[in-house]
Amino acid sequence: MTTDELKYVNPVFADPIKYLQFRDANLKDVIHGYESLDHIALTNPGSPDSVRPILGNSVVEMFFQMQLVGVELLQPKVIEDQLRMARILGYYMAYPTVNKMGFDQFRTGKTPVEVVSNDMTVGFLGESWRNAGIGLINKVEEHDGSIECEINEVGCSIKALDSKYCSLCSNLCGIAEGLTGVLWSGELEECGNAESGTCKIRIHPGDEPFVKDKLEKRDYADILDGLVKSVVDGVNPYPRKELGSDLTMTLSQVVNYLFENASPGHRILYHFSGMKVGEKMAELKPAKNMNEAVENLGKIFSENKVGLLKQDGDNLILEESLMASGVKNQKPQCAYLGKIIEGCLSKALGRKFSVTETKCLAKGDDFCEFACKRI
Ligand SMILES: [Zn+2]
Ligand SMILES: [Zn+2]
Repeated sequence: MTTDELKYVNPVFADPIKYLQFRDANLKDVIHGYESLDHIALTNPGSPDSVRPILGNSVVEMFFQMQLVGVELLQPKVIEDQLRMARILGYYMAYPTVNKMGFDQFRTGKTPVEVVSNDMTVGFLGESWRNAGIGLINKVEEHDGSIECEINEVGCSIKALDSKYCSLCSNLCGIAEGLTGVLWSGELEECGNAESGTCKIRIHPGDEPFVKDKLEKRDYADILDGLVKSVVDGVNPYPRKELGSDLTMTLSQVVNYLFENASPGHRILYHFSGMKVGEKMAELKPAKNMNEAVENLGKIFSENKVGLLKQDGDNLILEESLMASGVKNQKPQCAYLGKIIEGCLSKALGRKFSVTETKCLAKGDDFCEFACKRI
């Protein structure tokens, strides 16, 4: 058997979580804390079985991007973790589909490259990315043992940025690994900024670190300001013709889950970024009193499909939370949203608030509840 041939039955089918733990121990490639991925809702916008009756299964893409960029601004090295997250997500998302359709259907090729570039795989990938609002695959070709992909209307790249930014490449490597049982590496050759609108990716079997353009803190600060403004104004400056403004909320939930669990340091950065985002929101939408501040934030949350926020005495209630809907967990999942509330109220009202999530949909409560204390 040559090295090109598939060497082993894909371990994804036995138990994806066990496999990821094995990878972590042996390859130091993925991060800890994926057990609860089993409890994250794999949903699609427009799916008939919506986990949220009013807001549906999607989030506005600008909010998702803001969730990522806020943390990168605090620590640009986090981008490397995000590439790992995208890879885990790709790997993990290949699992239910392959399980449902049967591995043999995909395995109509001798080499990993043939398995990933066959019509069945490309069809499945194209449909699932379209349904999830991730992007439109318009070309997949095999060249000298690697696969070239072109994707339009990518929802997870930062638009109008002269840099390669999206995580699609490592996501694709994760999917390819899920399908073939071997590691993949790749490069993002071009990223779909506002002008080209197309991301070009090349992936091949192999185990090399991902190459990524490094951005400076200043770049991230500018990007984040633009994103928060888009989120607050409800205006996407780079609208997508076919896919519209929404992405599957699974992306937000996975990023939320992994930042909460990767390490205490990740969690602190993530929460702090939520607070900073909340402060920026209050700067853009000043309020004279608590009622007005909650009303402003409620409008931002509902427009971006983050949840339905209302006041209940000293508490705030959030229904249909983006981070908790369809998720099952022992722990509350919405600390990031709580920190946005905290930053927003503190800035708007000029005094420090402390916001704690006291009930969460994810752990079986009817809705999420945040206790807001003036300190
Ligand atoms: Zn891209
Ligand atoms: Zn919650």
